[in-house]
Amino acid sequence: MANRAERSNYELAIIGAGIAGLSAALFAAKEGIETVMVGETGEILFASGLLDLLSVHPIGEGKLWDDPWAALNALRNDLPDHPFSKVSPAHIRTSIDGLLEFLSEQNLPYRRDPDRNVEVVIAMGGVKRTYCVPETVWNGVQALEEKQPTLLVDFEELKGFSALQIATTLTDRWPGLRTATIPFPGGRGLQYAEQLARALENPESRGSLACDIRACLGRAQMVGFPAVIGLYRTREVFKDLEKRIGVPVFEIPTLPPSVAGLRLRDAFHGGLAAKGVRLFPRHRVAALRYELNSNFILDIEASDGGKTLSAGAVILATGRFLGRGLRGDRGRIHETLLDLPVFQPQERALWHRHDFLDPRGHGISEAGLMIDNRFRPIAADCDPVHPHLYAAGSVLGHQNWVRAKCGSGLSVATAFAAVNAFLTT
Ligand SMILES: Cc1cc2nc3c(=O)[nH]c(=O)nc-3n(C[C@H](O)[C@H](O)[C@H](O)COP(=O)(O)OP(=O)(O)OC[C@H]3O[C@@H](n4cnc5c(N)ncnc54)[C@H](O)[C@@H]3O)c2cc1C
Repeated sequence: MANRAERSNYELAIIGAGIAGLSAALFAAKEGIETVMVGETGEILFASGLLDLLSVHPIGEGKLWDDPWAALNALRNDLPDHPFSKVSPAHIRTSIDGLLEFLSEQNLPYRRDPDRNVEVVIAMGGVKRTYCVPETVWNGVQALEEKQPTLLVDFEELKGFSALQIATTLTDRWPGLRTATIPFPGGRGLQYAEQLARALENPESRGSLACDIRACLGRAQMVGFPAVIGLYRTREVFKDLEKRIGVPVFEIPTLPPSVAGLRLRDAFHGGLAAKGVRLFPRHRVAALRYELNSNFILDIEASDGGKTLSAGAVILATGRFLGRGLRGDRGRIHETLLDLPVFQPQERALWHRHDFLDPRGHGISEAGLMIDNRFRPIAADCDPVHPHLYAAGSVLGHQNWVRAKCGSGLSVATAFAAVNAFLTT
């Protein structure tokens, strides 16, 4: 039977455990705020581990930017309702710096060129512009830029990653890219990236792999792998493999569910718990209730029974349709916890354009919460629904993070802004 008797009180409750919720928990913990975070693990599990800031604006023109800060300035001028336009450039920088510092402390360092987007090879083939990449991906950024003679390796049984397919899409751009398909050492039946990553935690597996790679290295000055080089001690495993092979190596994030996403999740969970955040990582808030001038009440459901918590303030970081922060029915799009007003096309016929790949994106992709300048969801009268209810991440409306290539950056910056608003309200 659900245990509804257990009850705890917190200054701040964060609902949602994607990049936005996890970042909000980080920024709150840094400020010493008594914080609880409740949320099923977010889509970082399925994501690439790359941190985009902003590469495309306006999305209708598909204009690509090398300098994400210049892109943000342009966006601020063009789209005043966009959530990025409500965060100062200084706060966006501080939020990204804060996240990278934390990840480095968790032994999951990221690399970037502070004022420039970089290009990375992606598992589907082709390249993608992004802002920060895991340190294990960085050599690949430089190898692509300098067109270094490189060997790209895949494994016979690994699903969803073909070195040949990647190299074929890059023939003109990177002529010095060769490929090799090898059996994973002792790897009969290892088909998934996570299994390979676990296996490479073992030095013997790395020894055999390095031996096989050296045999087909030829004139290559660099070796690229699918992102399977370790799961828990990635840095150590990566450096050891590099030393054994004798040339720099790099990873290419695999298709979801990716090891890069798992590493990110583990780094957050470990680091946040150590900073004193109370985590309920596999729990769902079944109901959120409030009365003005009193605490929020969160009814939490879990397979091991329910709980009820209370908090003085709440940050909703519940994502869109995939995260289940939004839900559509035949008539309209709803916010799932409080049925907050959602910015959305006037009628269902306008949710999608005729052509799936229409460069302007679909109306439904900008659906989400409307907020004031303090990141509080607003009602039809433009007043905040509650003085201490905030929102962050992809649940926010007036933005299409998929087309603008700004997913994680937007989540991190708006999480920072929401925590900052909480502190100064
Ligand atoms: C396939 C894929 C690839 C991606 N690749 C990139 C990339 O290359 N670069 C990049 O920058 N970004 C990428 N992203 C985007 C990024 O991972 C995030 O999804 C995005 O930034 C939105 O984050 P979010 O935290 O706002 O929402 P989500 O990630 O959707 O998280 C929302 C969370 O809220 C939880 N939740 C919802 N309702 C409740 C409730 N009632 N109770 C408790 N929890 C609840 C959900 O379970 C989930 O944990 C990718 C995303 C996907 C799906």
